[in-house]
Amino acid sequence: MALATATIDFSALRANLARVKELAPNSQVMAVLKANAYGHGLVPIAQQLAGADAFAVARIEEALALRTGGITKPIVLLEGFFKASDIDIMLANNFQTIVHDEYQLAALEQAQLSGQIKVWLKVDTGMHRLGVEPQQFEQFYQRLKGCANVHEQLHLMTHFACADELENSYNQTQLATFTTLVSDKPAPLCLANSAAIINYPQSHGHWVRPGLMLYGVSPVQGKTSSELGLQPVMSLTSEVIAVRRVKKGEPVGYGGHWQASADTQLAVVAIGYGDGYPRHAENGTPVLINGRRYPLVGRVSMDMISVDIGADNQSVAVGDDAIMWGAELGIEEIASCASTIAYELLCNITPRVTYQYL
Ligand code: PLP
Repeated sequence: MALATATIDFSALRANLARVKELAPNSQVMAVLKANAYGHGLVPIAQQLAGADAFAVARIEEALALRTGGITKPIVLLEGFFKASDIDIMLANNFQTIVHDEYQLAALEQAQLSGQIKVWLKVDTGMHRLGVEPQQFEQFYQRLKGCANVHEQLHLMTHFACADELENSYNQTQLATFTTLVSDKPAPLCLANSAAIINYPQSHGHWVRPGLMLYGVSPVQGKTSSELGLQPVMSLTSEVIAVRRVKKGEPVGYGGHWQASADTQLAVVAIGYGDGYPRHAENGTPVLINGRRYPLVGRVSMDMISVDIGADNQSVAVGDDAIMWGAELGIEEIASCASTIAYELLCNITPRVTYQYL
């Protein structure tokens, strides 16, 4: 029987989608499902998001997997397509694409197509990752409008670099740049990721693009998911497979990285970086066993972690459930203990973990 289990709470997922709609009541929702729906399972998550208006993924393979899984909603390729041959696949599968670069525009202009592709023109308003420069925008817009292979309804979008920081004035700068550029264009607009949906109502536009918040994780620095009205969707659990005593001064785990400061007991839990638990989780990272938080000690191994349960503890036994993160232990806190972000922890869940959908 598999030990490490990701339990996915569909009712929490649907509640989070409802929260998006409550915050952005006048926008359509493009649910972001890239990277296996942030580690939650691509097709099962898509099936539960019947209330979304479209889905977004990063790779054409992810979009094809959705179609193979029977998903018929519009699907947007967030980074666009990379090869001219992808255009036929997009047309055949009714995928929509972002255009952010000349090579994509040229390929669309040169393609011999029997239909039209829906395009989202992405403008770089300050992230400096993908997108056409503001000074190129008009030229791209006009060429796309004139391109017979492109659907007449062009969409316009941009992406914020710092939306998780409420006080950061860079968000206003990006918003102003975008608003000025598109002011005379009769096109649907899309700007907001999860953090912007929460922090910047003025950025909602015709469409919003939530990812993280759908999975019940806080996208805003300094705010917990419950403070934002979100419900964690994934619980990552495993089991205690040994309880043993160590004496004061004895080292624990690879490298003897941690030594017991007093006689104590360790619970060994069957989860490690081979399951996606972060190897860089520091000593003291909380693990929840029978409703109590205990500190991780020693290095995270591929298959196991050790937890200090104290010398006199008689309440932890082999077979007890241990919670790594979930509704009672925020993934945001674990990410911070591992010097990373919740996005990475979720995406790093490995195929060894069993999924249980509730
Ligand atoms: N839009 C784009 C272009 C993205 O790359 C992402 C995710 O990285 C999202 C929206 C969703 O972001 P979040 O998960 O922060 O809501």
